[in-house]
Amino acid sequence: MKNMGLKQLTLVSPEFNKLVSEDEAIKRAAGAEDLIHSARLYNTLDEAIANCHVVIGTSARNRKTPWPLMNPRDCADRMLNFLSVESFSQHDGTKPHIGFLFGQEASGLTNEELQRCHYHVNIPAVSDFSSLNLAMAVQVICYELRMAFLMQSEQPDVPISSVLSPESEGWDEPAATVAEVEGLLAHLEQIMIQTEFHDPANPRLLMMRLRRLFQRTHLDQREVNILRGILSSIQKHIQ
Ligand code: SAH
Repeated sequence: MKNMGLKQLTLVSPEFNKLVSEDEAIKRAAGAEDLIHSARLYNTLDEAIANCHVVIGTSARNRKTPWPLMNPRDCADRMLNFLSVESFSQHDGTKPHIGFLFGQEASGLTNEELQRCHYHVNIPAVSDFSSLNLAMAVQVICYELRMAFLMQSEQPDVPISSVLSPESEGWDEPAATVAEVEGLLAHLEQIMIQTEFHDPANPRLLMMRLRRLFQRTHLDQREVNILRGILSSIQKHIQ
């Protein structure tokens, strides 16, 4: 939870009141003990979700009675929209409370508990082995919430573009221009003719393939300079 920026942990009849000591819980939290200290503890689920505006139940199994069901990604997107739409804010301007409900490791959530939820979320694992460990299921949901949050925030604090390349912000060298890449190709062609790798009388598709290769790699200016330096050194050596 803490890795993904979520803060409010609510526990219903937690084990550490009974079997495991609070010290043990803090040790297992591995640096996230502030979430344990600020956790809200309740005896019943009803009390725990009383202040929520939307409750989302997570389950590995399909229940007999159909319920509004989402996958984690759509759910995260929808809930982030719900939080960002002005009209859903409460009169005092605070955001609505959205609760994600997880079951116990051994037994999961009962039908009665799942019926207290507005929506169900299922992580689409393979059907004959669909139940994740609780911590893993929590992380998948928290990760999707984090991604939805980063996608919607105007200035994400980490780069979330799928590919970092010279055209994206944060690359250390300027992207090479078309003319620079063409200059490199012409230089390469010249050397390949000199080394007799390339026969201009029978060019086949060699230059087309090399152009496609270099376009695909999105060279930056320094990379073009390095490659041209290598070509020049070959040229000098031949001469
Ligand atoms: N035998 C239990 C397993 C519980 S796993 C059962 O079948 O319900 C513990 C918790 O992890 C579940 O209650 C649920 O909250 C979550 N979980 C595990 N696998 C999940 C999945 N595929 N989709 C959504 N939540 C899942």
